[in-house]
Amino acid sequence: IFEPHRRASAGLALADRTVRSELLSGMASALLSPFEVGPLIDGELTLGDARPHRMVCPHDHRQDIGQVHWSDAHHIEAAISSACRNAEAWDLTPVDERARILERAANLFESQRTQLMAVIVREAGKTVTAAHDDVREAVDFLRYYANEARRLFSGPISLPGPTGERNEMTYRARGPFACISPWNFPIAIFTGQIAAALAAGNPVLAKPAEQTPLTAFLATRLLHQAGVPAGVLHLLPGYGTTGAALVRDPRVQGIAFTGSNAAAWAIQKGLADRRAAIVPLIAETGGLNAMIADSSALPEQVVRDVMRSAFDSAGQRCSAARMLFVHEDIAPRTLSMLAGAIEELSLGDPMDYATDIGPVIDEQAQDTLDAHKLHLGREAQLIADGGMPEDCRAGTYVSPAAYEIERIDILKSEVFGPILYVGRYQGGMLDKVIDAINVTGYGLTLGLHSRINSVADHVARRAKVGNLYVNRNQIGALVGAQPFGGEGLSGTGPKAGGPNYVQRFATERVRSTDI
Ligand code: GLU
Repeated sequence: IFEPHRRASAGLALADRTVRSELLSGMASALLSPFEVGPLIDGELTLGDARPHRMVCPHDHRQDIGQVHWSDAHHIEAAISSACRNAEAWDLTPVDERARILERAANLFESQRTQLMAVIVREAGKTVTAAHDDVREAVDFLRYYANEARRLFSGPISLPGPTGERNEMTYRARGPFACISPWNFPIAIFTGQIAAALAAGNPVLAKPAEQTPLTAFLATRLLHQAGVPAGVLHLLPGYGTTGAALVRDPRVQGIAFTGSNAAAWAIQKGLADRRAAIVPLIAETGGLNAMIADSSALPEQVVRDVMRSAFDSAGQRCSAARMLFVHEDIAPRTLSMLAGAIEELSLGDPMDYATDIGPVIDEQAQDTLDAHKLHLGREAQLIADGGMPEDCRAGTYVSPAAYEIERIDILKSEVFGPILYVGRYQGGMLDKVIDAINVTGYGLTLGLHSRINSVADHVARRAKVGNLYVNRNQIGALVGAQPFGGEGLSGTGPKAGGPNYVQRFATERVRSTDI
């Protein structure tokens, strides 16, 4: 699928015991010295007056991984004015040079994979495999957008000249871009947004999630080391107020955002309130994703794929399956296999390769999910709850669980964790199921298990979702092969890792010359 220059990052053969034990011991030693991070302005770690914040590990709150100095108003001002000063030079840098810098960064990410993974596992609580995939996706984004930049920016695009004139269109940079990224892919999404903005010739003000500034710091350092000019990429760790300050500032010419719907609405409002240039917001938000299994589906495959879709990364993916709609003919067998599979899942230290499910990101997430389970305990029928081992009590763990529900409207908004809802439907009711999914207003992923091609075609025609996955799991979109992103409440598009993404970070200029 990938052309040679776009090949997906090779990654490590984690199934090989020798590769794995070398990796795990490397990860353990990468964490020996504590990290101290903060704003990176013009490539310099710039500390403010406030005391640093201790970053605790989600798997065990008695351990910390380092400390972070948050950005203050001076950092934000210094970063924006430097980005403005350096915007023109970066825009005028030949595209091949920009692309080569991103490709060098991809190579550096690969060579520093062990350290990056170690920090991701300890800071975000991702399992070893998930951290590995996170780094790999970041590498893929760097290479893919580098290549996209060459395709789009190498020269003017000739257009027809109906009266003999010469018409040309070029893509150009917009100016400083704010990239506001989430904690659930602390390196892939962080890097993907930045790589696209840089590829299009924009300086970047990066605001990583407050839960994962250390990973962001390491990634930013590697981008600088690869040759991204110091004045063209600034890191501003902080809470939502830091993002809001960037959104309010009329010098910021575009926003790339992945996160909650509430934050996306606040950004839209903030941009409107500026009463300044109307700039793009590229938002990727939540999902209320379903999987449908019709009567022709094989329960073994449904269970294998819904388990991965619902519980991988403790369900903390936008793409994760939140609901399974299963045809009544296969429901009894599917549900009993599902219950067995949930009980088999192992919760534990994410650094342990045998762990299936690590912690959720923080106490707030844990409280929300626990409260939700309590509510479901009254409204729905428990299918299975994986339970919690004693040694998980020091971290923010939520045990994986599935509930059978009578009506889909029990679910109003995305619940970001390892909880799956199951509903049975009767023959002839497939369209009602699709309607119920469409009515949620979200439109990110949909899984379908069916051995009837016309059913897949019908679902594809009717379901308003960005990514439909048939007879497989519905997570882990591959850069360049499965461009990722939704519609409606799930975001604005264009799709990350797709052929229309980098354009949105650019402006189009047309020159028409009489000859
Ligand atoms: N691209 C990821 C996937 O396909 C999800 C990204 C997200 O959670 O924001 O699983």
